[in-house]
Amino acid sequence: MATGLVWHELYMWHDTGNGAGVIPAGLTVQPLGHLENAEGKRRIRNLVEVSGLIDRLVQLKPRPATEDEILRLHTKDYVERIKDASSKLGGDAGDLTPFGPSSYEIALLAVGGCITAVDAVLDGKVDNAYALVRPPGHHAERDTGRGFCIFGNVALAAIHARQVRGLSRVAIVDWDVHHGNGTEHAFYDDPTVLTISIHQDNNYPPNSGAITDTGRGEGEGYNINVPLPPGSGVGAYVATFERVVVPALRAYSPELILIACGLDASAMDPLASMMMTSDGYRKLTRAMLAAAKDLCGGRLVVCHEGGYSPAYVPYCGLAIIEELAGVRTEVSDPLLDLLASFGGQELQPHQEAVIREAMKLAAAVRPQPASRT
Ligand code: ZN
Repeated sequence: MATGLVWHELYMWHDTGNGAGVIPAGLTVQPLGHLENAEGKRRIRNLVEVSGLIDRLVQLKPRPATEDEILRLHTKDYVERIKDASSKLGGDAGDLTPFGPSSYEIALLAVGGCITAVDAVLDGKVDNAYALVRPPGHHAERDTGRGFCIFGNVALAAIHARQVRGLSRVAIVDWDVHHGNGTEHAFYDDPTVLTISIHQDNNYPPNSGAITDTGRGEGEGYNINVPLPPGSGVGAYVATFERVVVPALRAYSPELILIACGLDASAMDPLASMMMTSDGYRKLTRAMLAAAKDLCGGRLVVCHEGGYSPAYVPYCGLAIIEELAGVRTEVSDPLLDLLASFGGQELQPHQEAVIREAMKLAAAVRPQPASRT
């Protein structure tokens, strides 16, 4: 089994400024450092190296996406606005999305990294791949950035798979703790990309990600939101995957599975209130590997999104990449025993109630036979 890793140091040079967490610094807000900074992601890459796992991976060099590729999703006005500000001192791409000089080029490299991973998997160069890119992408909409995201990395990777590589059906599973609103918007009326988002109920963006938002027109039924209650742990996530995500994928029969991989559902994350662990992510990865093996020749591409506990996300990232590669290093998660023993890690009745509703959506997914280009 060969697993690709997309990485570039420039991803770490995307500058989100000195806000306090997510709050812009000002006269009453002491500068502290933005939560979406390079540290957590760089520490994943470093742990992959220190663990020795990197020697078992195929390193994939990302290329920048072209402007034409970005325009498959985003509006010309938006792209020009980002390009212009990035050539100066930077700016804000929309809602809570500060960026610095040259972030335009770095964001192109993030999109291109996800496309590189898709191509490597579709070409059979690797069996699966992890694109450890930055900035993240799943909140970005056609004409605005949002939630630290500039361009829709995973959405553009799916569009590439459809329009350039000729795939008929692609599935995107988003386990970032926040709603994948940008990905939802990109494919809301499109049955050729099944979008599934598992997120904390009404965390971010506000009033987004309702279970009743199921798609529109031809896309009706091909968008599934699972808004889990705050406090959901490994039991709720595993049950969601067993009862909703995997059945929906089986019904849809995608030719490629993409994962929008946020690590911010972890028990240590400051931007959400869930209780996932590295072992929980390991289980979800296994479920996705098994589904990909059964449905699409194992073709699985994982695109990095959020995750704001720099101390803990490396263990979650390592667990996922270990599973992708079928390699277990000697690194153990130093917090796993503590976090796994938190009260409420098992599936709770009020969490199961949401999952039961979402099961109805999964049961309604029908194969999408028509190829639409
Ligand atoms: Zn997130």
